[in-house]
Amino acid sequence: MSDGAPTLDAARNILKTVFGYQEFRLDQEKIIASVLAKQDTLVIMPTGGGKSLCYQIPALLFEGLTIVVSPLISLMQDQVSQLTQLGIRAVCLNSSLDLIEYEENVAAIRSGKVKMLYLAPETLFLARTQALLKGVRVDCLTIDEAHCISDWGHDFRPEYRKLVEVRAKFPHAVTIALTATATAQVRADIREQLAIPDSHEFVASFDRKNLVLNVLPKTSPQSQVLGILREHQGESGIIYCFSKAQVDDLAAVLDSRGLSVRPYHAGLADSLRAKNQELFIRDDVQIIVATIAFGMGINKPNVRFVIHYDLPKNIESYYQEIGRAGRDGLKADCFLLYSHGDSQKIRFFISQKEETERRVAERQLATLVHYAESDRCRRFSLLQYFGEEAGENCGACDICMNGPRDKVDLTIPAQKFMSCVKKTGERFGAAYLIEVLRGAKTEKVLMNGHDKLSTYGIGKDFSKQAWSLLARQLVQQGLLHQDPEYNGLSLTAAALPVLKSETAFFGNPLEIAGAPARSSRERTAAKADIDNGLFEILRKRRKELADEQNLAPYMIFSDKTLIDMCAKLPQTREELLNVHGVAETKMRRYGDEFLPFLRAHANGS
Ligand code: ADP
Ligand code: ZN
Repeated sequence: MSDGAPTLDAARNILKTVFGYQEFRLDQEKIIASVLAKQDTLVIMPTGGGKSLCYQIPALLFEGLTIVVSPLISLMQDQVSQLTQLGIRAVCLNSSLDLIEYEENVAAIRSGKVKMLYLAPETLFLARTQALLKGVRVDCLTIDEAHCISDWGHDFRPEYRKLVEVRAKFPHAVTIALTATATAQVRADIREQLAIPDSHEFVASFDRKNLVLNVLPKTSPQSQVLGILREHQGESGIIYCFSKAQVDDLAAVLDSRGLSVRPYHAGLADSLRAKNQELFIRDDVQIIVATIAFGMGINKPNVRFVIHYDLPKNIESYYQEIGRAGRDGLKADCFLLYSHGDSQKIRFFISQKEETERRVAERQLATLVHYAESDRCRRFSLLQYFGEEAGENCGACDICMNGPRDKVDLTIPAQKFMSCVKKTGERFGAAYLIEVLRGAKTEKVLMNGHDKLSTYGIGKDFSKQAWSLLARQLVQQGLLHQDPEYNGLSLTAAALPVLKSETAFFGNPLEIAGAPARSSRERTAAKADIDNGLFEILRKRRKELADEQNLAPYMIFSDKTLIDMCAKLPQTREELLNVHGVAETKMRRYGDEFLPFLRAHANGS
């Protein structure tokens, strides 16, 4: 730009004076520099990483308009409300506006006062939108949720493809595309579609350090959930279930216990679903029991726990779902209730699918099962899946906090199982082998003549589940190989020394009692040193102010801001500006609503 491009100093200044934050996070600074230099930029950052500032700060520094393409109306409205609270002129154009609002927004855009315009791709393509934008200088085209452009992704939206053509209509505009989807295929696809060079791609770490990862053996799920809820009293959380029926059941049980809970799934009337979501976002209801239909478009920052009552669909969706916890950067707990029986059920569903779909689903399930059954640091396993290096001891997962379970000597049952594998010809799956070991008289066993084998019926001392747990450990430790397609088991070289009693085989006990749910003890670490009474008073005031304006409480101040207020106890408007997330506009708007409580507290009343 001829008139001097805006500088990073100016960006830092905006971070402080408009958003009330002290420092940039992760790659934010480099990304903003890239956008300000008008280089097309691709940003891959996990949910809660801080993508929005990457385009919002440049938008405030550019002379002209920034267009933000977003797939969901609820996301747009959330952003516009938050920006409005910060004193920034942002509007959206979409079908939920009435004619008057629509015209007002159009006039504001024409006048050049609006810095950010949020809309869905369909709206951007409309002739009247194009006509409107012809008369406006557009400096930046932001493509949010950019994975929608890729048909490799989980929410492909064909309209996103047409954005490529639209770019040509804004010759001054730089493009910034953002997504939280990490897979290499999707990433490459976005880059190719939008012709963004590798050098302008920023991939942030996917490690969300504030998420504590737990896998619990699913023994008595309802009481396990109640236990977790007891530890999280008064906090917001999401419980994901596999089916609508399960959602309704569990929500009813929790409701009957007097908990503040609502269900959410595609079987509910639209209006009820929207209502339940709204209640949750506004802190009127604390717990949402939901199918995976819930979550897209939820920006609520203070979700303190996510429970997976059933197995998620795959690792990507799992990561996305738990990513909804702890967006505010404060500690949040994630629990996956896992039972091998559940994975068998899903395996059955998968077996009904047609060939290609089945293979993909099988691979995804195997990865999940491996994650849940492994003895390695959960974070290590997850990050490895996303192609990221990580240490082996994160200190914030069940394995690292509890240590792996004590190993026991399983040499004898391992020998029995593996000789059964060998004697049946190394082609059967675990379920069948267990039938043989336990002396079942099924048609298949009799037909194969396997009731004549020396291993027939030698394994009655263990349950089916115990045997399958053993089989999985033998596969995991590399003594058995499992055919990925047919599940048939065969021996590897590592099996021989154990079969010949040259080495022992150690593993997890076969009849497990189920480790107790242990969440992070100091989960409210950030809150530990503050006065909880004061926090509750501020929270109550925030809720009143939010209700008066029909807003979600976090749009006024985040929990993190309230906690910082309790810690710093500002007494004046100037001191209030030092609090995380308080800048000029919010100080003017809300300072006097909160200062009296802070002063009273400091005076000991
Ligand atoms: P994403 O879109 O990547 O999921 P957001 O942009 O919503 O994440 O940011 C998550 C939270 O982190 C928001 O509350 C945001 O205000 C906050 N945040 C972002 N950048 C910073 C920063 N540099 N300092 C402090 N808080 C930040
Ligand atoms: Zn760990």
